[in-house]
Amino acid sequence: MEEIRALKGTKDIFGEDMRKWLDIEDIIRNLCDDFGFNQIRTPIFELTKLFKRGVGETTDIVNKEMYSFIDKGDNDITLKPESTAPVVRAYLEHAMHAETQPTKLYYISPTFRYEKPQAGRQRQFHQFGIEMFGSDSPTADAEVIAVGQTLLKRLGIKKVDLHINSLGGPECRNKYNEILRTFLHSKQEHLCELCRDRMDKNPLRVLDCKNEKCQQELKEAPTILSTLGQECKAHFEKVQELLTAMNMTFIVDPSIVRGLDYYTKTVFEFVSNDIGAQGTVCGGGRYDKLVEEVGGKRTPAVGFGAGMERLLLVRDAENKEALKPASRDIFIGYRGEEAMLEAFKVINHLRQAGISAESDHLQRSIKAQMRYANKINAKFSSIIGESELEEKALQVKNMETGEAVTVPFEQLVSVMKNILGEA
Ligand code: ATP
Ligand code: MG
Repeated sequence: MEEIRALKGTKDIFGEDMRKWLDIEDIIRNLCDDFGFNQIRTPIFELTKLFKRGVGETTDIVNKEMYSFIDKGDNDITLKPESTAPVVRAYLEHAMHAETQPTKLYYISPTFRYEKPQAGRQRQFHQFGIEMFGSDSPTADAEVIAVGQTLLKRLGIKKVDLHINSLGGPECRNKYNEILRTFLHSKQEHLCELCRDRMDKNPLRVLDCKNEKCQQELKEAPTILSTLGQECKAHFEKVQELLTAMNMTFIVDPSIVRGLDYYTKTVFEFVSNDIGAQGTVCGGGRYDKLVEEVGGKRTPAVGFGAGMERLLLVRDAENKEALKPASRDIFIGYRGEEAMLEAFKVINHLRQAGISAESDHLQRSIKAQMRYANKINAKFSSIIGESELEEKALQVKNMETGEAVTVPFEQLVSVMKNILGEA
């Protein structure tokens, strides 16, 4: 029969990799706890128009990358290509704006984009992201960036640079768009078809073109920083002051425009120089107009999205030492039918008391059972045979030191708790 394989750009996560995922998710949960962000889980799919409105009709995501389909009820549905628009939808739907502000949320979510798969670029990938609603203040921008920086620190990732920029508010943006359009027209014949197509509709998007030749031409483009109005300029300066006060180093980089239309004022990226082309591990910024675009009242907001696969890639590239291997507290083997009953009774007690215990399911010889105990990294082991049944006690051996103690069956749980508590 024809072999059925996972779809291109998707991956099974299991074994050692799964342990790395669980570890990073733990780190994220603790991090968000420390910074006061609460978890939210939104559905895997939403109405397509949410993303058209939220992400923007001229973006690569909406134009080329969405997994959209019509369901049996004729609804136009899309697998989420990012989570900010869904979180905004939920924020409005559940009137979170009526609660004490700011609202601080985080998510860890599968994310779907129809892209050309390569290292660090998949069709189903995972994002960790945070959103803070209800504050205009530069302190919110700085706090969001600090979450990203602390995450990288806790993951032991050092070779990353923080790039920041400001895209200004609607007024500065309009002014800049005019200047940029004039510039782009002057370069017209050197730009790719997509850029030429976009330069009138959404000139800022052109700066985000992935084409090498275009990027070369765009080097001389006027920067938005020169057209920032008073208020946006002051905001951006305050963000920088706060970052410095919080001990973060950064590069002001006018080429950072981000791939989504909803950003205003601060935008930023953490870029690794360790994993090649797909180096952006985390990107975000302020999006003061998005809540309105999705259908709510004007609500300032700021957040970021980080690619979990890329974080794992960078973490692996920088930290060569592996995670501590998986282990079990105790292996209890047996010889004979009667001992088998006792062994499974005993491990069941241990497990119920929160001690990880294993026995043999494959009718192995005693020698093979001990090899298995080694293989699963059991910290302690014991074999129940005839004499143990007779004496109602077993020998618990420390697998590292070889030391053994005799323990009555009924005391095993409390003795093990003691030993493991000390270890
Ligand atoms: P890129 O320029 O690499 O396509 P992007 O600007 O499209 O990234 P965002 O929409 O900002 O990315 O998503 C946030 C993060 O999600 C990125 O910085 C990246 O780490 C990760 N990411 C984006 N697309 C993918 C993908 N197809 N596979 C794996 N990770 C991804
Ligand atoms: Mg992209």
